[in-house]
Amino acid sequence: MSQGPGVAFAASKKKKSTKKKSPPKPPPAPVAQTLRSYTGPNSTRLVLDLSRTTTFKVETDSSRKTFSVLVPSGLESPSFGRPVLDDGAVTGIDADETPDGFRLTVHMVEWNPPRVFGLDGDDGQAARVVVDVVRPGQAERDAAERARVDRLTASARRILVVDPGHGGEAVGAIGPKRTYEKDVTLAIGRRLKEELEKQPGVTVVLTRTGDYDVPLRERYRVAERYQADAFVSIHCNSSKRATGSGTEVYFLSLSSASDEASKTLADVENAADKISAGPETGTGDDDLVGILFDLKQTESMQQSSVLAEAILGEIESGRRLEARGVRQAGFAVLKSPIVPSVLVETAFINNPAEERLLRDPGFQQEMGEQIARGVTAYLARAPVMARDNRTGVKPVETPANLGLAR
Ligand SMILES: [Zn+2]
Repeated sequence: MSQGPGVAFAASKKKKSTKKKSPPKPPPAPVAQTLRSYTGPNSTRLVLDLSRTTTFKVETDSSRKTFSVLVPSGLESPSFGRPVLDDGAVTGIDADETPDGFRLTVHMVEWNPPRVFGLDGDDGQAARVVVDVVRPGQAERDAAERARVDRLTASARRILVVDPGHGGEAVGAIGPKRTYEKDVTLAIGRRLKEELEKQPGVTVVLTRTGDYDVPLRERYRVAERYQADAFVSIHCNSSKRATGSGTEVYFLSLSSASDEASKTLADVENAADKISAGPETGTGDDDLVGILFDLKQTESMQQSSVLAEAILGEIESGRRLEARGVRQAGFAVLKSPIVPSVLVETAFINNPAEERLLRDPGFQQEMGEQIARGVTAYLARAPVMARDNRTGVKPVETPANLGLAR
């Protein structure tokens, strides 16, 4: 079975030439550089790196549980092997030069329509074809999560959501020694979870537990599903100069950022969603966020600022890094109008000295402990969240938490 005509790969910008020239030579076929795969809990993502943008089409065969990405122009692929993958969603991949062009065929465990989209190379990376294959058992996984949400939200436990920034193809900032932000944030996030759960009555939910990506909106929605007491996103800073240093803690700004550097930083972090969420997302819901914020913003943002101060205070007393201050900017991942949310820019990954720290397991542990102490100090003072189905816990109704009650 064939699916539709060609899918345009990126917007091809045609420049009209005013001069008459001899017909141009057809450009050389793009080169297939690598095929990367990321196995997540819900899907497997494949990313085909090309030397330049090109067009492709998708052909599906549901009865054989396969689909292929066909590049009609062909691909130079001198060193492109057939990657071996058998991860519970994908059972194998074939890469072939055929008379129709270059064909990448993906064999699935269970037929589900794949999602395929192209990304042009404007972020400094090669042009890419991105393929998402759904892992079988989505309904069961959703049911298991709903049961966990029901159990936890009905309990007296404090629930915290820790969000290791980036993941998978969205590597985040890259240090001079090729340290990826996504690896550091996961390492610190895991240590933070471990530290926080040493406190009695605390459960931590991670937005990701491996090297795969999660769209920004889904990250804060995890916190909303669990009606979490707080959401902490972990990142690494990066600046044009190699001398930037220290830790910043952010909470959301609805209007302007604290300063120009904070705005630039938020723009960079938000841009990651182009890869995470794909091209078709990014409108609609933000209006709703705006409306909800009108009602809830005061209480939730006040709590966010208290949480940010508590975390930065612990980092400051650790004296390992300069505490650069609590700032505000429009980070998309902080847009929950309900859950107090902060984003920790732990250190500057582009500064060689701080990159060395960020790679160091001892430092990762220390950072996890400091953030955990800040969150714990915040929880000791913060009002208990009044959850919909919580039993046996009477929320303390203070002016500060009346607005947080749901
Ligand atoms: Zn980041």
